[in-house]
Amino acid sequence: MSSQEHPLGISFEFFPPNTDAGRDKLIHVRDELAARKPRFFSVTYGAGGSTQARTRDIVRSVSQSGITTAPHLSCIGSEKAQLRDLLAQYREEGVDSLVALRGDMPSGMGSIGELRYANELVEFIRAETGDHFDIAVAAYPESHPQAPNLDKDVENFARKMKAGANMAITQYFFTADAYFNFVEKARALGVEQPIIPGIMPITNYTKLARFSDACGAEIPRWIRKQLESYGDDSDAIAAFGTDVVSRLCERLLDGGAPGLHFYTLNQAAPVLKIVDNLGG
Ligand code: FAD
Repeated sequence: MSSQEHPLGISFEFFPPNTDAGRDKLIHVRDELAARKPRFFSVTYGAGGSTQARTRDIVRSVSQSGITTAPHLSCIGSEKAQLRDLLAQYREEGVDSLVALRGDMPSGMGSIGELRYANELVEFIRAETGDHFDIAVAAYPESHPQAPNLDKDVENFARKMKAGANMAITQYFFTADAYFNFVEKARALGVEQPIIPGIMPITNYTKLARFSDACGAEIPRWIRKQLESYGDDSDAIAAFGTDVVSRLCERLLDGGAPGLHFYTLNQAAPVLKIVDNLGG
């Protein structure tokens, strides 16, 4: 860790905006968050590579902050030749970190491509580019929605870590014990790399509920009931959400989590309130 880095080991995720206004706003958000000296920024990649050009464009502009910027890269629906080209382009542009994912097949899209799972993508990146890239992969403390059970999912997770990933970032969750349980299971299978909790600020209950259903993240009943009781009162939702997520982060850090990766949804204020509460 450089002496310049934020002491809590924070990092921030962005998505590529699809309008010029969204892009301009992201530059301000980037600058506000860069001032907190994160370890890295990451930029998501649309299902089946649908945002490939925009992801690359945003990676270029975000990395102008001087902060390491890791593009997400998914393999589902792609051929090896396409992935090889993209890796070569990133290398030429000075990118040295990636988040490697299987991704989800967009509905109506044809072939699943040549690589079926993230462990195969990690193997492919290592075979093609050696140790050039630092590779992060995804982890699911509450189990990936398609996995038959958590134990099977942790076995699959361990396979991609052993394929050469440097670290993992988790799906978001609101129950600290889910994270500790997952880490314990992964360690029991010999995974030694850092597993960074992914943190989702709570700002909009309807969107959060929809998204959580889709990705299999559990919103505990006591949080759901409280958020529902606020109706459209966005200030009350934000105040409660900041408090709940700040306490979650405290528990994670106290229990030994090696950093925090924030899903920013391209907004600085909600995550900065949490970071400020943590006092780092
Ligand atoms: P995998 O690790 O391949 O796992 C997928 C499923 O297959 C799991 O159920 C697993 O148990 C099982 N499995 C894994 N390996 C094997 C194997 N060898 N044999 C049999 N079964 C196996 N999506 C995007 O489209 N773009 C993004 O930018 C993006 N960023 C993300 C960032 C993070 C931190 C996280 C947590 C998720 C992100 N996602 C993103 C979502 C992700 O693409 C989906 O959750 C996807 O369904 C799984 O991707 P994966 O890399 O975890 O897949």
